[in-house]
Amino acid sequence: MRIAVLSDIHSNLVALDAVLAHLGSVDAVWHLGDVVGYGPEPDGVVDRLAGIGAVGVRGNHDAAAVGGPEIEWFNPDARAAMEWTRRSISEATRGWLTDLPERRMEDGMTLVHGSLREPLWEYITSEPVARANLAALTTPLGLHGHTHLPIVWAEHDGGVETISPSNGSTFGYGGRTALLNPGSVGQPRDGEPTAAYLVLDTTAEQAAWHRVAYDIAAVQTAMRARSLPVRLVERLSFGV
Ligand code: ZN
Repeated sequence: MRIAVLSDIHSNLVALDAVLAHLGSVDAVWHLGDVVGYGPEPDGVVDRLAGIGAVGVRGNHDAAAVGGPEIEWFNPDARAAMEWTRRSISEATRGWLTDLPERRMEDGMTLVHGSLREPLWEYITSEPVARANLAALTTPLGLHGHTHLPIVWAEHDGGVETISPSNGSTFGYGGRTALLNPGSVGQPRDGEPTAAYLVLDTTAEQAAWHRVAYDIAAVQTAMRARSLPVRLVERLSFGV
């Protein structure tokens, strides 16, 4: 099977559609949460994911969008965008987001937004945190997002091997215990503004990372029209 793994789409429908057009044929689409927040088209993104039967998990922004207390920990820009998101989403979007679980197992892999230990909040950004979360895995492979950075954390000789994949990078996961982060579709933060995603080939047991250009200016125009925070508009140009 070919499975697309998308994370941190953040209401960026233009980026999502560029990724879906680039994917080619896949057997399934999985998402790792933060479907909404920051961007201008929460209903459009949820409609698209629901329409293609994507399955996934809840992120901290998804929880906040349906009224969760998570909004209290947001910085002022994220909070302003979330208050707009809360006001604008449809009942259908609210229901779809409410139904997302904090973790799920698919095809022998564990899907979470942040980490195994704290699915909504923990950022896996250091070796000790990665090690603890590799130990918390009950499946060989874990898929997570939240940091908006493409990365592999893999057990290796009692330590942790780290790989920062770029466009076209692959990782053979057969026989490995590893955490894979596809990077962010809708708000990349690794200095590269193109949309990031990964594809799993479960026959070859290989993950492949991809980057896709999208019409950033169109998204920025839509964000300005909705009076979303300027800093959130500008960062899309730089991938930070
Ligand atoms: Zn996010």
